[in-house]
Amino acid sequence: MADKRDYYEVLGVTRDASEADLKKAYRKLAKKYHPDINPGDKEAEAKFKEASEAYAVLSDAEKRKQYDQFGHAAFEQGGAGGYGGFDFGGDMGDIFGDLFGDIFGGGRRSRQPYNGPMQGANVRINMRIDFMEAVFGVEKNIEIGYKEICEDCHGSGAKPGTQPQTCGRCQGTGQVTFTQQSIFGMVRNVQPCPDCQGTGQVIREKCPKCSGQGFKKIRKPLKVTIPPGVDTGISVRVAGFGEPGRNGGPRGDLLVALQVGSHPIFHRQDYDIYSTVPISFVDAALGADIKIKTVDGEVTQTIRPGTQTDTQIRLRGKGVPSRRNRNVRGDHYVTLIVQVPTKLNADQKEALKRFDDAMKGKPLSQEPEKKKKGFMDKLKETFEDLED
Ligand SMILES: [Zn+2]
Ligand SMILES: [Zn+2]
Repeated sequence: MADKRDYYEVLGVTRDASEADLKKAYRKLAKKYHPDINPGDKEAEAKFKEASEAYAVLSDAEKRKQYDQFGHAAFEQGGAGGYGGFDFGGDMGDIFGDLFGDIFGGGRRSRQPYNGPMQGANVRINMRIDFMEAVFGVEKNIEIGYKEICEDCHGSGAKPGTQPQTCGRCQGTGQVTFTQQSIFGMVRNVQPCPDCQGTGQVIREKCPKCSGQGFKKIRKPLKVTIPPGVDTGISVRVAGFGEPGRNGGPRGDLLVALQVGSHPIFHRQDYDIYSTVPISFVDAALGADIKIKTVDGEVTQTIRPGTQTDTQIRLRGKGVPSRRNRNVRGDHYVTLIVQVPTKLNADQKEALKRFDDAMKGKPLSQEPEKKKKGFMDKLKETFEDLED
């Protein structure tokens, strides 16, 4: 018993840990080391027992007080039963019941199943739209699988004139209990009743029209409005087109998960658009008005003389409309790529040689401010020769 670890250390909490802290810490460890999750793993089982023991003590105010005062010695007298001399007592189920219910997704412990109106489940579908549709929004006419409530039984599935009956297997509680051998001894386990799927009711005489299903499956045409500014991963909700509700509850919703296609020219990052535009090295050197494609169509943009390759220009408000406020739009960033000609005829080569000579005669960097204009004029002449 001397080598027993400190309970606080076992759970990885401080000595002033709250009840919630303890529970959280224990839940984490139990999830990791539970024998059901690690079958046959002795080390995990030991860890699980150690954590369970620590939690059993520290979660009990009286025992925690004793432990804080006397340490492990508080529980060592009498040392029969339990693990390594520790006696869990008879309340294990109370301590761990809720917790394992949470951890392993057991049903809630209500005496009677809820048979009031319940909203139907949401239905998820995927939809591909193209780049421009995502930018400006679109209306899509699609067809969806749809469970239409049976008009004869109004969704109950019972033959008109009959009523669903109380389930015999669970006596209408919607739950069945079975016991299982575990390291703690026999453990009670509560699960939804398989006969009635937890509803507590079964249909004796099925509605002939829907074979007791309560609905019929149809293909239903639907117009889905995609607002501007959507992107991949965004879902559009169409209220009331999910699964039918139960006992008069409203239908669930249809969630349309969007996947946006790419565009040959534009790239998108959130609400901003990016593109690259090639410009001739003459336009880059001399400046020019160039045409740039945007999602709104072509715009004319003035390029300054001496523009370098990879220069980025921003076209404000030419990006994607915001989903929150379609009047607010992102920007369009254009990267200018200066293109060097690859095929030159003799005249053009000659012109470039003259240009090169001119550059050597009066290097640009040493050019006084005043004379720059003269140089630019010269340059312009050179290229005007070249352009015809
Ligand atoms: Zn029916
Ligand atoms: Zn049942």
